[in-house]
Amino acid sequence: MSDNKFVKIYNFFAVNNYLIVNDIEKADIVILDLCWVWISFLNDTISKIDYCLSKNQKIILMWCITDTLKDKYWDNIIYIDTKNYSIFEVYFDFIVPLNRVDSYFSASKINLLDTWNHVWNTWYSLEDNFNKKFFIEISIWCQLNCSYCNIKKVKGNTKSLKKEDIINEIEKAVKDWKTDIFLLSDDCWSYWSDIWTNLVELLNAIFEISDEIMVYITNIYPSYLVKYYEEIKKYIYADKIPYILVPVQHYSPRILKMMNRAYDVEKIIGVLKDIKESSKTELHNHIIFNYHEETLEEFVETFKYLNYYSKTFYFKHSDVNNIYWKNHISYDLDKKIILLKKLQKKYSIDIPLW
Ligand code: SF4
Repeated sequence: MSDNKFVKIYNFFAVNNYLIVNDIEKADIVILDLCWVWISFLNDTISKIDYCLSKNQKIILMWCITDTLKDKYWDNIIYIDTKNYSIFEVYFDFIVPLNRVDSYFSASKINLLDTWNHVWNTWYSLEDNFNKKFFIEISIWCQLNCSYCNIKKVKGNTKSLKKEDIINEIEKAVKDWKTDIFLLSDDCWSYWSDIWTNLVELLNAIFEISDEIMVYITNIYPSYLVKYYEEIKKYIYADKIPYILVPVQHYSPRILKMMNRAYDVEKIIGVLKDIKESSKTELHNHIIFNYHEETLEEFVETFKYLNYYSKTFYFKHSDVNNIYWKNHISYDLDKKIILLKKLQKKYSIDIPLW
């Protein structure tokens, strides 16, 4: 979600003739886009902001985690939240407005991948022909309430796009030969709660547009996948859904309960097994490890089902104390990291940003 918006902002500047540089020394405007955080990362960010302020550079903080820095720098920075990012147009001169940037790019064939963002590279690796890809945010926010989740705390409740608007956008994309449709949301299964439809109805409507369409589902709360599996498995069996991210986050019932994600892991694994045996769908997974007082034994449980996934991202739980966990305790962190690295190749484990 934030990557999709970040690329739009990047393209907004590119199309409007701003020179984009990666060297902070050469910048007049510095944009910080943070989506997750731990203490060393946060401290690095604070020292960068202080440095930029001392050089009178204009600083823009974007999205959820930067919200935590808002109070400290309130008078000196521009803060953009995910709901109102068109506010960019208030601060910067432009010829092409934000909502026309994408069409400008497809008309002029400028390479949208002209960014070092790693998620785009991951998606790019799923299929070679990037020109066929179309990204659409079907909803923002989420109806769930995981205890560790800053996204939820910053964004609030679900806000979905109308089904007709999504279908219109996808019809336009298909006319432009973009048939790989990426559904984006903080949680795709939260698409419904405010507008009386659901993801199954949306998928049915999307697949009616064209036989060429493939739908990539970028995030599903696991127990909703189980609940609706009977209704969508025909698309999975027909290899119409090449990619699903099912972020299980953990397998220990104690930790899942603390995360406020108390689902039946065996049922989820049953569905993943069926997907793996009956289709070419790539399954990706997220695990949060080192969650509050996670023991080494609980950590080892997370390896049990890795063979169902073609990739698993291991995110270390933030050691920033917050209102929920005042005194974060890490058990055997060094041993966990050694184990992870040993299994990294075998199970295609990705360990983003240490
Ligand atoms: S499902 Fe995802 S976005 Fe929703 S509360 Fe949980 S972690 Fe946050």
